[in-house]
Formats: sequence, C-alpha cells, structure tokens
Amino acid sequence: MRWFPLSQTLSLLVLAISLFITYQLWKDARFSAEQALQTDFDFMVRDSNRRIEQRVQAYQQVLRGTVGFFSASDHVTRSDFRIYVDRLRLDENYPGIEGIGFSVLIPPSQKDKHIAAVRSEGFPDYTIKPEGVREVYSSIVYIEPFSGRNLRAFGYDMFSNPVRRAAMERARDSGRAALSGKVTLVQEEGGNPQTGFLIYLPHYRRGAPLDTLEQRRANLVGWIYAPFRSADFMSGVVGENADNLAVEIYDGKEISKQALMYQDDLSGDNSLSNSRFVKFQQLEFADHQWTVATRARPKFEDREKDDKAALVLRGGIGASVLLTLLAWLLVDERARAVDAARRALRLALHDMLTDLPNRKLFTDRLLHSLARAQRDKTQLAVMFIDLDKFKPVNDKFGHAVGDLLLKEVAKRMQDCVRKSDTVARLGGDEFVVLIPSIEDKHGDTVVAEKILKTLAAPFYIYGHTLHISSSIGIAIYPTDGSDEKSLLKNADIAMYHAKKSGRNNMKFFDSAMQEVDS
Ligand code: GH3
Ligand code: MG
Repeated sequence: MRWFPLSQTLSLLVLAISLFITYQLWKDARFSAEQALQTDFDFMVRDSNRRIEQRVQAYQQVLRGTVGFFSASDHVTRSDFRIYVDRLRLDENYPGIEGIGFSVLIPPSQKDKHIAAVRSEGFPDYTIKPEGVREVYSSIVYIEPFSGRNLRAFGYDMFSNPVRRAAMERARDSGRAALSGKVTLVQEEGGNPQTGFLIYLPHYRRGAPLDTLEQRRANLVGWIYAPFRSADFMSGVVGENADNLAVEIYDGKEISKQALMYQDDLSGDNSLSNSRFVKFQQLEFADHQWTVATRARPKFEDREKDDKAALVLRGGIGASVLLTLLAWLLVDERARAVDAARRALRLALHDMLTDLPNRKLFTDRLLHSLARAQRDKTQLAVMFIDLDKFKPVNDKFGHAVGDLLLKEVAKRMQDCVRKSDTVARLGGDEFVVLIPSIEDKHGDTVVAEKILKTLAAPFYIYGHTLHISSSIGIAIYPTDGSDEKSLLKNADIAMYHAKKSGRNNMKFFDSAMQEVDS
C-alpha cells in the first residue's frame, strides 16, 4: 500500500484532534463523576447526622415520658418504676440505652434519714458513693433494668462528678433536657471501659411554680436520666451507608484524642485519613455540642473506578483510532482516485500502446506551433512516417510481437528528436513528427535521416531478428500549407511518394505531387 504524506499528516491531525476531544470529554466526565460522588457523600453525611440527632431526640422523649409518669403520681415506688421501664422494652426499641434511672437530690440534713429509708427497703448495704462530706448530695435510687452492670450505679452521687454535675445543673436551671460531656459510666469497670454520656431531665415538686430560676432550683426533687455507651448508642445509626462512611464523634467543638467519644471500626480502611471526602459537622443538643467527623471509606471512592469517565476514555481512544484509520483510508482513496483521473486524462491524449501523444494532442501542439510560427514568421516541419513491410511481421510472428515492435519503434524515433519536438502515433504503423522551429526548408533533413537509419537497423524481439524500414514525407509551413489539415495531408502525400519510389527514403512535399495524384 502506498503511503501518501498528505494522508499521513491528515491522519495524525485527526488522531491528535480526536484524542484531544477524548481528553476533554474524559476530564468533563471525571469532573461530573467527582461532583456526583461529592453530592452522594454530602447526602449520606446529612442522612447519617440526621439519624444521630433523631436518636438523641427519641431518647429525650423517653425520659420526658418518664418525668410525666413521676409528676402524675404522689409517690412512684421502686416496683412502679420497674413496671414502667419494663413496658418501654428498652432492648427492642431503644438500642444503646443502658437503662433509665432516677437520681434524687439530698440536702445534707436529710442524708442519714435517706440512707436509713433505702436500707429499710431491703438493701442493708446501701450507701451514697463516693463517701465524704459535700454541701449537697444526690443518689441514684432507682435504675432499671436493676441488674447486671446497672447495680454498680445504685447509690452513686453523680453530682459529685464535675462533668455530670454540669449537665445536671443545666437541666435543673433550664427545666429542659441536658446532655453531659464525655464520661466513663460507673457501670463500666475493668480492662477496656467504653466511653459514654448521659441525658438528664429535671423532676420538680408536683404543682410547684417553676417560672424563675430560683423557683426551679428550690423545687427540684431529682433527675430522670439515662446513661449511654457511645458505641451501643451509635450501633446501626449510619444504617445502610456503614460500608461507605466512617463516623467519629468528638465531645465539644474540638477534634482531639481526649474529646473522641466514638469511632467507627476502621479495620481494613487504613487509608481513611487520606480520604478525599471528609465532613466535619457540629450537632447541637440542648446547649451541648458534638462534632461529627464523617469520612468516605475507600469502597465509596472505588465506585468511581468503573464509572462513565473510564468508559469515555476507553470509547474515546477506540473511536479516535477508528477515525484515524478511516481518515487515512479516505485520503488515500482520494489520492488514488486523483491518480486514476490523471491517468485517464493522460489516456485521452496518449496512445495506449506506445504512450506517445495521440492524434488529438499532436493536433493541439501543431495548432499551437502554427500560431507561434505565424506570429514569429518562422518555419515548422511536419513529417509523416509509415513503416515499410510491417504487416508481414504481424503475419509471421503474431500481433503481440508486432505490438512490441511498435513500442520499440516509438522509442527509437523519440531518441532522434529534441525535447521540443513531438513524435505522435496516429494509428496502425503511422507516425507523425512535429518540428516546431526550423532554420531553412531542409533544416529537418537531419532528423528524417536519423529516423530512416534507426528504423532500418534490425530489431531484436523475443529472440527474433526483425527487419523493417520507413517511408517519410515532409511538409513545411508556410510553403506547403498554412493550416494543420493541409500540412498533414501534404506530408501524407509526400510519404506516399517516398513509398512509391522504393521505400526506406524521404520526400519533401512538392506541389507537383498533388497534380500527379489527383
Ligand atoms: P506498407 O509497406 O505498404 O506500409 O505495408 P505494411 O505491411 O506496412 O502494411 P500497411 O502499412 O498497409 O498496414 C499496417 C498494418 O499494421 C495493418 C495492420 O495489420 C497492422 N496494424 C495496425 N495497427 C496495429 C497494432 O496496433 N498492432 C499490430 N501488431 N499491428 C497493427
Ligand atoms: Mg506500413
């Protein structure tokens, strides 16, 4: 296959442009994939944070119900409380809640009386923990379920602990729920204690006025509260997105190891700290803040790998290569078509066998030369050449040998003339020569003699030695004719006379020749 520089250049151009377009499309696709991922991520984070807030709110609601239960009766007994909490079915309905408790406020003057009263209920070892003299006491008197880890909380004075006390005071002063900071629950003990937090609601004396801060402080009976282990609280919050997201919760506004309350299991996701998708969001619960850091797990980012962008890239490169091939084929085809057209045009003006100019091209050139000669007042010569005894070659050796002989004859004749002269084949064994400019009437004798001589020399074709010769008639412009028709005709007449006078010779046209013939 031929390789045209044009097709090469164009194909490379097509390749470059289509690859560039592919690159742009790939970049766009990647950008929108990235944006889609970001949107997905943002949505999941919002969803996850909303679930955390809803869970806190749901638990506050449970506590509010419990406060209502206390406010509705003169005295809630231990067994009343047990029945109430039992009916809530904490295990099934409120994952993460350790229990619900009631912590009573005890002025120092009432401390001994209080301890004696609880002991008399059947808890002879009951006491307020930790020991020590304080200006005010509180004690977890009820905690349900009253079993397992919760038993350790019985009698604990949460007011003695600064983190819990802050939340208890906020609840007391505001009359609303208050969330504690990060704590280790008293329920935890031993090797690997979980962190947790508590939610408090104030319980005031029934029917007491609670409009002012003083009234609320004066009428506080105790707190309804619930302890939470962070990990249990968070279990299942992220829901179906747990595979894609990793959540950390920090107590307060700062991100620090001390403030870390909860962290999703990161096993296997080591590269998480390098995640491209991270969101820090502050959640606010009744005057308390959590900072939730949410990161996309590698699995989420991997989604991008077999997405549209990769498809665009693969498809684009494939299409570019195809386009390039197509362009190359088309341009190559076009070049071939142009080449074929050129050949067809050349065929129209040339003899198929010898490739010499044909009669049409010869006539064109003759007309052109005549116009010039007329203008410049110069002479030109037309020679008519017919091979002698050509037919016998055909007859003896076949048409194919005859053809090869004609080709060889054409070559030899061309070697006898100058570049500016024209040798043409009119058909059969007839040739014409145009010499566009001659010095005098016999100036072209030299050319004619050369032709006679070269054609009389033996030809060697296909192992045969062939002998022919030629008869040449010459007509000169302007003496022997002023137009192409008369010049050709008169050269033919002169050739005829050359044949008649024994062949292998040349004759100049003479006006007497016409009279003899006609
Ligand atoms: P003369 O000496 O009188 O010129 O006789 P000649 O044998 O050369 O025959 P003539 O010029 O009368 O006729 C030319 C012959 O050339 C007739 C034809 O058979 C043969 N011829 C014509 N065209 C072709 C061709 O394309 N190829 C071949 N091989 N022969 C051709
Ligand atoms: Mg002949």
